[in-house]
Amino acid sequence: MASSAISATPTSSFIANQKDLGRFGFSSTSQFSIHKCKKSVIPMKIMSVMTPQQSDRRPATTGSVKTALTLTEKILARASEKPQLIPGENVWVNVDILMTHDVCGPGSIGIFKKEFGENAKVWDREKLVIIPDHYIFTSDERANRNVDILRDFCMEQNIKYFYDIKDLSNFKVNPDYKGVCHIALAQEGHCRPGEVLLGTDSHTCTAGAFGQFATGIGNTDAGFVLGAGKLLLKVPPTLRFVMDGEMPDYLLAKDLILQIIGEISVSGATYKAMEFTGTTVESLTMEERMTLCNMVVEAGGKNGVVPADSTTFKYLEDKTSIGYEPVYSDAKASFLSEYRFDVSKLEPLVAKPHSPDNRALARECKDVKIDRVYIGSCTGGKTEDFLAAAKVFLASGKKVKVPTFLVPATQKVWMDVYALPVPGSGGKTCSQIFEEAGCDTPASPSCGACLGGPKDTYARMNEPMVCVSTTNRNFPGRMGHREGQIYLASPYTAAASALTGYVTDPREFLQ
Ligand code: SF4
Repeated sequence: MASSAISATPTSSFIANQKDLGRFGFSSTSQFSIHKCKKSVIPMKIMSVMTPQQSDRRPATTGSVKTALTLTEKILARASEKPQLIPGENVWVNVDILMTHDVCGPGSIGIFKKEFGENAKVWDREKLVIIPDHYIFTSDERANRNVDILRDFCMEQNIKYFYDIKDLSNFKVNPDYKGVCHIALAQEGHCRPGEVLLGTDSHTCTAGAFGQFATGIGNTDAGFVLGAGKLLLKVPPTLRFVMDGEMPDYLLAKDLILQIIGEISVSGATYKAMEFTGTTVESLTMEERMTLCNMVVEAGGKNGVVPADSTTFKYLEDKTSIGYEPVYSDAKASFLSEYRFDVSKLEPLVAKPHSPDNRALARECKDVKIDRVYIGSCTGGKTEDFLAAAKVFLASGKKVKVPTFLVPATQKVWMDVYALPVPGSGGKTCSQIFEEAGCDTPASPSCGACLGGPKDTYARMNEPMVCVSTTNRNFPGRMGHREGQIYLASPYTAAASALTGYVTDPREFLQ
């Protein structure tokens, strides 16, 4: 699949071609030298190679040979208390944070009790974070029962971080309630560079944005971690994605990750770490880095990671008092493959039904009539995602032509939507702009219809509709109806599409 990086796809100009690479690689070397991640500079001969190369790394023959490590390998070496390790090796990793939610928490708790005993205590009551978020605002009894099980367990175990919701009629009277786990983890300061964060959710990889190892695990593994605080993990080899060039102002990180997944396919990073570097990545905000890492699992990635830098440290300033120690890839670390991108050449993208790698230019889909737009989820329901959508509505001055649903990821995002002024609006908030554009009123924060959910879930696709969505998966049935069609897109593209009733390139309104 890697050879598609130089195939004549509609978006192939985004990838620097062989000729460009020599020039591109040369200039980026000097840029790297002034940034923290200069530790990950690779030899020029590799930078000039277009197609991914197989690693020639071999296991050390003696215990004293020191091998250069990637960022992911370094975190796992430290967490397993080993001076060296190699990709493919199985190591017992000490876990810094385990997260679970209402869908997988009850099952994990059941396994923990079965294997460790009814009266067993979790390994560390301050390292377990339990976040109800998936099926919250529903009358479905089984869904509600799941939250009750979490509550009982947290009381029994005196769990410090349980973000509970008791009154479903009004989320605002539940000050502990946060919303979507991956965004709440970041906002509540549970994501820290250099640490290991595991969660019973495939999009736990989102936290890799903080320069940490973060990945999803199953209920059985989580049950074991609950009792032991560690897990046997196979060290993944690392793919490196170097993104340079000025990001056009009609693009968002969602476009970058859709480009990458379209390039390497939904299996292109199976059980591999995806490390994102380059001047474009360095310029991204933390929320945008989270979008990038959020979807690595759609390429099969074990984890995604962005080297921590001043942007990371600033974000963390008022969120955690726990010390952390960032790590970086060694200059001579071996990467299984490397992909280079000139972001300045990229255009707004979508992933057509029914796969996140079914990439197309948004403008190529301009004849696709849509029935609705959904802006929400851990991928596209953050504060900056709503600011981006509001920017498009503001620029157009028009009303939406299809129902447009807004589901803030967390309670904090919801408050931002109602409080933060949108730049260039004369002080209007997102919520005011959305109302003027005719969108639905922002809903209670949760996973909402991203995962379909019970029939009464807000904005669930109960009919075979066509939806442009800022979520991360467009498999059949993902948002409800099995015959629904989901076009994954950035908040810019989603908002532009809402204004026309067709899949629309946001440049139609932003230029
Ligand atoms: S918002 Fe969607 S992708 Fe994210 S955790 Fe919830 S269901 Fe999963």
